[in-house]
Amino acid sequence: MLNEEKEFKFKITIVGDPSVGKTTLVKKYTTGSFQKDYIATLGAQFSKYGEVIEGNQINLFIWDIAGQDVFETMRSKFYNGSSVAIIVFSHAPEEFTSFNRITKWFKELDEYCGNIPIALFGNKIDLINEKDLTLNEDIVNSDLNIGKYSKDHNFIGYFKTSALTGQGVIEAFQKIVRDLYFKVKN
Ligand code: GDP
Ligand code: MG
Repeated sequence: MLNEEKEFKFKITIVGDPSVGKTTLVKKYTTGSFQKDYIATLGAQFSKYGEVIEGNQINLFIWDIAGQDVFETMRSKFYNGSSVAIIVFSHAPEEFTSFNRITKWFKELDEYCGNIPIALFGNKIDLINEKDLTLNEDIVNSDLNIGKYSKDHNFIGYFKTSALTGQGVIEAFQKIVRDLYFKVKN
């Protein structure tokens, strides 16, 4: 065959506090549907998803790690071999602690994964008025503040998402996968 097809495999590891929407985000990206009922992820959930870029087969192994502290000890195993990690927090006002724990997750990734690319998702954007994030720079989860934080921590991107409406979800995952692909394709 002249035009040889290659297979690329990437492991995407998703972390973040319980109920911020990790499982639903993965489901939205891989099947396009929104999961309404909350099913706590036990230990870790694993999905395989294939897509094609430039005629090459890209196989994604998505590991959605349980946020519950009780899984702290088993978590390290799941980080092994991650190509990229996503930290998810929730913009929902009642889940504000998830925002304050971004640094905790960053430290854990740093410890177990070393220097891999990390993206930040601010999920449940449908539950707030998005304009407040751009216009009111004084609030801690404003685009300005999170942008600064992301830059300081060398994140590959900050994405505002809603697994409910689908806003930003495909775009965010696609950007992450394309970045990985174009980095290793040659
Ligand atoms: P996980 O523990 O981080 O995996 O969280 P889940 O994916 O299980 O989601 C927890 C709950 O939040 C579920 O009831 C979801 O339906 C809901 N949820 C997830 N993403 C969104 C979102 O973007 N907007 C809204 N309004 N609800 C969401
Ligand atoms: Mg889950």
